[in-house]
Amino acid sequence: MQFKSWGEPVYRIAQLLDWLYARRAATWDAMTNLPKQLREKLRENFSLQTLELVRKQGSQDTTQKFLWKLADHSLIESVLIPANPALYGEASDRHTLCISTQVGCAYGCKFCASGLEGWKRNLTPNEIVEQILSVERWHVAQPKEKSLEAAENRVVNNIVVMGMGEPLANYDNLLKALKILNAPWGGGIGARKITISTSGLAPQIRKLAQEPMQFRLAISLHGATDETRNKIMPVNRKYSLRELMDACRALPIPRRKRVTFEYVLLRGVNDSVEDARQLCQLLQGIRCKVNLIPFNPHPGSRFQRPTDLEVERFQQVLHQQNIQTNIRRPRGDDIQAACGQLQGEEFRNPQVQSLFTAEAR
Ligand code: SAH
Ligand code: SF4
Repeated sequence: MQFKSWGEPVYRIAQLLDWLYARRAATWDAMTNLPKQLREKLRENFSLQTLELVRKQGSQDTTQKFLWKLADHSLIESVLIPANPALYGEASDRHTLCISTQVGCAYGCKFCASGLEGWKRNLTPNEIVEQILSVERWHVAQPKEKSLEAAENRVVNNIVVMGMGEPLANYDNLLKALKILNAPWGGGIGARKITISTSGLAPQIRKLAQEPMQFRLAISLHGATDETRNKIMPVNRKYSLRELMDACRALPIPRRKRVTFEYVLLRGVNDSVEDARQLCQLLQGIRCKVNLIPFNPHPGSRFQRPTDLEVERFQQVLHQQNIQTNIRRPRGDDIQAACGQLQGEEFRNPQVQSLFTAEAR
């Protein structure tokens, strides 16, 4: 920070952090306990808002999807989801924000829209943190009946790293961002309220296990054999199921906690009773829970969602083996905001594209 070279006293840093993170200030002018001259200097040297909101869509189930434009004109999405305590959070949770970590994704899972156009780049720590702050600034700007106290500016109290990209392929930037979001002087969001989802990067899972902060981990399994996984997740050819499960077994799972496995149900691919039995075998002896995600269709996908009956039949097999299992009903699928539907699709929309080219001129 340049405060020292600007001759500012050290306590100004605490004041600035308080405005940035605790109060989620939307403008430099709002930082009223900083001298006007300093605010001017900050304005000249730094940008407070690095993500530009291109479009916000609201779903009927009150899920909100935010499309952000980055400085290099790349597009990413974040999704604000009303509380569903059974899945990741605690009973008191108000909102979960699903954040992106990369522009596109290199892992190319066959059923996922995010990987359709490949990988463009990693997000910086700032771009990851800003998704939370920008959503909260948006929230503060919404008309309210009475002005809000600082604490009420926080709408996000649970984070799932399940947007666009493979978070563990952007390990260092992700960890830097999560440390800021977790810090008492920063986002103040507890590590156990942050869930990282990975398609199965075994070495990075082991590395994460060594971190002092124990974030929650969700493993995208989607198949109980190498044969099934190879068909739908190219990452399995790099890190086999054996390697992945060994890394999972080595996780330090706190008492009374469980590791989460995600399992997208694709009709006729991985949803039979036999698949469910194999899954039970695979998970034997691991303190875990399974989230079943009926496939969310998106334009260009060739897979189908199983019927509710087929999903329940699959769940039943797991229940019989005492494996805790939730069915993740799609949230926001009417606005293409559900799992695996994020792809910056608007960028392909000619209207939005012309907006960008008009601006570049
Ligand atoms: N790259 C990470 C996190 C982002 S995807 C990962 O793969 O885990 C978040 C979750 O959505 C993953 O479990 C992913 O497999 C799942 N998903 C992807 N496409 C989906 C789709 N079309 N329908 C349902 N779930 C999907
Ligand atoms: Fe990437 Fe995850 Fe989508 Fe696979 S499921 S393509 S790893 S974002």
